Amino acid sequence: KKLGIALVGLGMYSTGQLAPALQHTEHCYLAGIVTGTPAKAETWSQKYNIPAKNIYNYQNFDSIKDNPDIDIVYVVLPVALHKEYTIRAAKAGKHVICEKPMAISAQECRDMIAACKQANRMLSIGYRLHFDPYHQETMRLGQKQVFGKLTAFEAANGFVWGSDPNAWRLKKALAGGGGLMDMGIYTIQAARYTTGMEPLAVTARQEKTKPELFKEVDETVFFELEFPNGLKAQCKSSYNNNWSSLKATAQHGGFELNPAFPYNGIKGKSTQGTFNYPPMIQQAAQMDNFAQCVLSGQATSVPGEEGLKDMKVIEAIYRSLDHGGRRELV
Ligand code: NAD
Repeated sequence: KKLGIALVGLGMYSTGQLAPALQHTEHCYLAGIVTGTPAKAETWSQKYNIPAKNIYNYQNFDSIKDNPDIDIVYVVLPVALHKEYTIRAAKAGKHVICEKPMAISAQECRDMIAACKQANRMLSIGYRLHFDPYHQETMRLGQKQVFGKLTAFEAANGFVWGSDPNAWRLKKALAGGGGLMDMGIYTIQAARYTTGMEPLAVTARQEKTKPELFKEVDETVFFELEFPNGLKAQCKSSYNNNWSSLKATAQHGGFELNPAFPYNGIKGKSTQGTFNYPPMIQQAAQMDNFAQCVLSGQATSVPGEEGLKDMKVIEAIYRSLDHGGRRELV
């Protein structure tokens, strides 16, 4: 059986990545949509052959509970809306994939996890790179200490903001934060899954060269994550620099990805040679994996708890930016 997915929010990511990826999935398909824009409902319905009974808006969304075509709701909205729609989907009896960052606070993440647990529904976060072979190799090399213990780790992710100065990503109430929440989260993920450890403390500083644009949210953030074995990962995020890299140094060698975080075209190498994996669609692999978890009852490797762990790191980084110095995770 192929499970039916309904995408909630038909913005850039749903339109450019998720819907196209759902044309290549084996265990799930694009069964429904939730949108506030009637014109989009019309276009999508024709393009993807979605029946009228599987098209919802934000007001009648809860009646999705009566629709057996929809097994999984995929929340692809501005971050501040993730909690509400995840909880409404779980209460409607649907399994949920929620985009990153999971929510605007760790407390919201806890509430989302609790609601899905109470409804006995599975919850996963849209961490596509867990399903990318370059990142899976990075996890293996780091966690299995193939080149010995890691002695250094660096990661950077960002882009130069060139779009709408009124976008939700620049509003604290809708985005929760700026480049750190949106882009830095990939470097936190990478540090955590390359080391296989959870950071204990962080130290951060920020730079703002365009305060008129980044009035409410962070532009560029430099942060150090301190791991239990003493390793200090150096990470940075930005809405004003085109960064995408990851580099791990170990006792007897090392490995790196550059670019590290795009949908396509990741390149990587270790001291033993160049990585060479065939092209794949990260989002198709991610959604197929979740569909298989739902079908088999197996746990997902990227559950809500994974989103919560990143959010705790992000909150500690903001505490360091606000109050200075080294801040322990709570
Ligand atoms: P977007 O702005 O392109 O789309 C957001 C959609 O939400 C729009 O269709 C908009 O109409 C709708 N919306 C509903 N209520 C809204 C409100 N109150 N204010 C503003 N918009 C509202 O954003 P996007 O780039 O598609 O990002 C959506 C989510 O997907 C975010 O959580 C983002 O971090 C995540 N994302 C993940 C990846 C990834 O690689 N995993 C990539 C891009 C985006």
